[in-house]
Amino acid sequence: MFRRIARLLTAIVMIASGAVVGVGATAGTAHADECYTWSRTLSQGASGSDVTQLQIRVAGWVTSGERLSYDGQYGARTAAAVRKFQAAYGLTADGVAGPATFSKLYALQDADCTPVHFSYAELNRCNSDWSGGAVSAATAKANALKTMWKLEAMRHALGDVPLTISSGFRSYACNSAVGGSSTSRHLYGDAADLTGSPTLCRLAQQARTHGFSEILGPGYPDHNDHTHVALDPSPYWSAPTCGI
Ligand SMILES: [Zn+2]
Repeated sequence: MFRRIARLLTAIVMIASGAVVGVGATAGTAHADECYTWSRTLSQGASGSDVTQLQIRVAGWVTSGERLSYDGQYGARTAAAVRKFQAAYGLTADGVAGPATFSKLYALQDADCTPVHFSYAELNRCNSDWSGGAVSAATAKANALKTMWKLEAMRHALGDVPLTISSGFRSYACNSAVGGSSTSRHLYGDAADLTGSPTLCRLAQQARTHGFSEILGPGYPDHNDHTHVALDPSPYWSAPTCGI
């Protein structure tokens, strides 16, 4: 009798602490309500804004050099990205986004829709409102969100190693202050400079299969102390020291 009560109390404490620190199934449901909730199972042939929301979250699970479109059309490439996502998280890799896939996505996202291991603050050390860049503040912030989901995929593929971002969005003023290129993708909000571990070359090599079309790393001028990843309409990779 007492043991049963003790077990019950332990369970209650675990649920309560899970809610506080934001982990576990209970918190996952809360995340769904706060950020975004899918109301139907999605598979190839589906279209709509709910597909676009899915694409934002799985765009980091592509093949080398591939960039997934955020077009709201659930085609073969979206299905392939969903399969890679499912396989990476131990789910049945059937390319169909149903309850199990959504549950994992809910567990991976914060209330503001950023992935759990990244934040808007990390992607913008320049100003508070994302203004002053090459695109509107809303577009810069949306671009940063897409970049964060690719980084979340890359982080998981690397074995859940923490990634350190030294620079993200920059206004023209912030970009000039650090001597950035006048056409820098940092002005669009879709670039991130990575430092620390794992090695800069490992980061540059890994970025190739996570939807980044611009990768600049060791051996490229001014990139010996960080690896730069971004979504450039004109794909370009260069990290000569790393064989890229
Ligand atoms: Zn950069």
